[in-house]
Amino acid sequence: MTLVPVEEVRAFVLAACRPGPAVEVPLGEALGAVAAGEVRAGEPVPGFDNSAMDGFAVRAADVTAAPTTLRVVGTQLAGPVVPLSVGEGEAVRIMTGAAVPPGADAIVMVERTTPADDGSSVVVEVPVSPGTSVRRAGEDLRAGDVVVTPGTVLTPGRLGVLANVGATSVVVHRRPRVGVLSTGDELVSGGAPLAPGQVRDSNRPTLLALVASSGFVPVDLGRVGDDEAAITADLHAAVERCDAVLTSGGVSMGDVDLVKVVLDRIGDMRWFQVAVKPAKPFAFGLVDGVPVFGLPGNPVSSMVSFELFARPGLRRLAGFGDGALDRPRVRAVAGEDLRRGADGKVHLVRVVTTWGDDGRCRVRSAGGQGSHQLSAMAAADGLAVLPDGRGVAAGAEVDVLLLA
Ligand code: AMP
Ligand code: MG
Repeated sequence: MTLVPVEEVRAFVLAACRPGPAVEVPLGEALGAVAAGEVRAGEPVPGFDNSAMDGFAVRAADVTAAPTTLRVVGTQLAGPVVPLSVGEGEAVRIMTGAAVPPGADAIVMVERTTPADDGSSVVVEVPVSPGTSVRRAGEDLRAGDVVVTPGTVLTPGRLGVLANVGATSVVVHRRPRVGVLSTGDELVSGGAPLAPGQVRDSNRPTLLALVASSGFVPVDLGRVGDDEAAITADLHAAVERCDAVLTSGGVSMGDVDLVKVVLDRIGDMRWFQVAVKPAKPFAFGLVDGVPVFGLPGNPVSSMVSFELFARPGLRRLAGFGDGALDRPRVRAVAGEDLRRGADGKVHLVRVVTTWGDDGRCRVRSAGGQGSHQLSAMAAADGLAVLPDGRGVAAGAEVDVLLLA
């Protein structure tokens, strides 16, 4: 089987993943979701001219020279508007966020004033010009401004903007419900002593956590043995209740790689030997229209395969645009030799990143690089991308995918 470049496999996956249906959710459930519609401001923000400072609302024309004494005719706090106006020679005590009273066109900050002890007057110590420290209505948003376009990721700030225009809900692409199924007769869960040949199922908690931490809804589909009928039944049930399914194990060249057999029978699948290490075996296709990602069984491979292929595909289902599908990639400096042999594959080395005072990212190996050595993957926060060849020497530049 010929090795297929990572890019080609990724493109194949993305071509089959479509953004999920639009649903309306409360703002409190929208963090990290992708807007499916446009939202406009129905009102200006701020809604009225207000003070940017604690101080005094004045007529700038009265304070062209300083010091100037003004008569204080009342106080306007943030909140209900009191019936006050500022006439010639007058001032109103005002707090940050309070409505600027009619007649006033500038605010003098309290630090530039000396109020009389009885509060009846104030000496303004600096001249002010019209508009000083006044926050104008509509200065942030005008009525009709677009605040969210389809494809906008709802970050904390965006949710604040939506709240600012009075929205209590927002239409987003439904978060994909992503099923995770482990396969293999050797697998067990829990802490009981292992019988000879048994292996603990580490992929399922890892993949469920990757799904959750990527902002999708994890669905634990449990473990299924190397049994064709059981795998068939579990996969049929999985695509009924999930928007996408991740399996791990059973997709390589072994004798009981039955996931492969079943998926070929019930789905429209394609099998890859990807030109990458780890994560060479990978399967992808649709079962009853639902994307199924056949991830490799080796723990590091399943995580790397998730990063390279599943996460971008799932983000596409969640509505993310082309530029927002992948982890960020930086140009880093190898903090030590990162050696490899030529084999026609890209090697992804588990690395720990540090950011130097020079603003540059440096990477060092996170430990054992075997595809079964989950500890180094767990310690890593990046994957150094070593193109086919001999690797890079300490001090040379290397591309790094940032995982954290
Ligand atoms: P397979 O692709 O099914 O041949 O599995 C490849 C390797 O990954 C074998 O050593 C399996 O025991 C191991 N493996 C498969 N699934 C899991 C899992 N869920 N957790 C930990 N190791 C696994
Ligand atoms: Mg297996």
